[in-house]
Amino acid sequence: MPGNLVAIFYARHAGFGAKPAIVWNDAPVIDHAGLPATVGRYRAALAALGVRRGDRVMVKTENSPAFVYTYLAVLASGAIFVPMNAAYTAAEVALLIEDAEPALLVHAAATPVPDEAAAPVKRATLEPDGTGSLPDLALSLEPDLTIEPVAADDLAAILFTSGTTGRPKGAMLSHGNLSSNVAALHEAWRFSPDDSILHALPLFHAHGLFVALHLALYNACTLVMLPKFNAAEVIARLGRVSVFMGVPTYYARLLADASFDRAACASIRLFVSGSAPLLPSVFDAFAARTGHRILERYGMTEAVMITSNRYEQAGRIAGTVGFPLPGVSLNIVDAERRPLPPGEVGEIEIRGPNLCAGYWRRPEATAESFHADGFFRTGDTGFKDAEGRVSIVGRSKDLIISGGFNVYPAEVEIPLAEVEGVVDVAVFGVPHPDFGEAVVAAVTVDRADFDVAAQEAAAAASFARFKQPKAIHVLPELPRNAMGKIMKSELRKRYADSFTA
Ligand code: AMP
Repeated sequence: MPGNLVAIFYARHAGFGAKPAIVWNDAPVIDHAGLPATVGRYRAALAALGVRRGDRVMVKTENSPAFVYTYLAVLASGAIFVPMNAAYTAAEVALLIEDAEPALLVHAAATPVPDEAAAPVKRATLEPDGTGSLPDLALSLEPDLTIEPVAADDLAAILFTSGTTGRPKGAMLSHGNLSSNVAALHEAWRFSPDDSILHALPLFHAHGLFVALHLALYNACTLVMLPKFNAAEVIARLGRVSVFMGVPTYYARLLADASFDRAACASIRLFVSGSAPLLPSVFDAFAARTGHRILERYGMTEAVMITSNRYEQAGRIAGTVGFPLPGVSLNIVDAERRPLPPGEVGEIEIRGPNLCAGYWRRPEATAESFHADGFFRTGDTGFKDAEGRVSIVGRSKDLIISGGFNVYPAEVEIPLAEVEGVVDVAVFGVPHPDFGEAVVAAVTVDRADFDVAAQEAAAAASFARFKQPKAIHVLPELPRNAMGKIMKSELRKRYADSFTA
């Protein structure tokens, strides 16, 4: 689909001008007819600050309507949006500034950023409440309603991957990557202008920015935005929307709230989960409590959305991520890139109109991850069933090799999560003098009398010897990043000496 993503969105708003585009603090703040003028003022402000086509604009601030205006203004300018995880430290931001060389850094006053001496770059402020030097300037200017024409492969955004090791790499996403992906999701999830979305995901990540926000803009939906996820705030607003998107921890936290029930979900047609594996135990508990089967999908920063379960209720299956989206090829391969038969676990490689062009200014990292035929090594392992439905069993680097056998974390995590009292679980490998690596589990529980020794014994009885967790640690919570992904590297570090000390 050629053209500037912003022009694609606006063209689809015709006839829906009076509909609120964004609801914030429970009040409509802008309708679809008003969006181009407000975005146009931000575009004029960016130009006044020196931003030109192809320039990078880095943004480090919290969710707000003004975040959305800034994003659309950057794209309308033909510039490249570079959002940053709000949790990054000043030193981390300094590295990314060095890498992306932005023409402008937009940030909240309170968020850590390096000082001018450490990172000489033009700056503007944007506070979570929508005030700041950027909105002040925007509101003083006449709107620039023009939209820069772009080619499908012109860059729209660079998103630094949340990689836990090494320097973050910037995935270069084009207007064509993003427009093809939102069009595929619109079809797959049956979106229409009748929908409204409750948005509680961070806008600095692909899930919040390219999935939830884009679907709303593509369908002239009303977006009910929250600054961040909070179970009570979400439950109070679910009755006003038709779609909610979240990471698995959001669903677990909703379930932990006793007031969350069928009545709270009465207006919902679709719950979507992704960014981390949704435990079948959570899927089942959610279905029992609400009558809704959560639709799980699989994606990553480098390719936005890759696979999705089918929309029909019977097609939403726990523990699987469904089928590749239209246009996406997905292979399960062995170390020599030979395709594996159904049921066999291998590395997932993908190709499609959604796949980014590579990593910004990192030709060696790009060459490592992209094959000459255009396929991308996702770093995830999984298998297909006989119908082609994909299941993910873990990151390649989280594979445990115990006594010479491969143990895929999910094959131990899923049954452990079914154990009475277990709420959350992570399985990982640590060095072991005998087995090479030993399987270890960390769990959170919701009962004081949880008997670890009994569970270790039960696990010994139910798993093959090499898969048995040699230890189960009960923790108050599992270490997770901003997107709810369990940071297994932290757990491996914490228990590294368990068997070798
Ligand atoms: P990110 O780039 O932060 O979006 O992280 C992408 C990674 O999240 C993928 O490579 C997967 O390892 C993981 N991921 C995303 N969706 C799922 C899912 N539905 N099930 C399991 N892992 C997932």
